[in-house]
Amino acid sequence: MKIKKGDQVQIISGKDREKRGKVLRVFPKIMKVTVEKVNIIKKHVRPKKEGAKGQRVEIPAPMDVSNVMLICPKCGKMTRVGFKTENKNKFRICKKCGSEIA
Ligand SMILES: [Zn+2]
Repeated sequence: MKIKKGDQVQIISGKDREKRGKVLRVFPKIMKVTVEKVNIIKKHVRPKKEGAKGQRVEIPAPMDVSNVMLICPKCGKMTRVGFKTENKNKFRICKKCGSEIA
């Protein structure tokens, strides 16, 4: 996956277009990510005890990784991610400024 946990990304399609946030989780098998404060769904949590009130929590739902674009920490621009291999190590690089992305 080109996107990793902790990356800053911008949403490029859907109702949350142009929002930015940090990637909270990646789901490589289904090619989805969850992004902080983006694609929020309200979930009802059943009360743990009888008589207690249920709670409504807001959580970010997974969204297609193709709907987000990485924001390069170096140049601050939205960018496509490239890969570079050096001494068998694979690096991600920013296609805009060419710097390595951790
Ligand atoms: Zn860059």
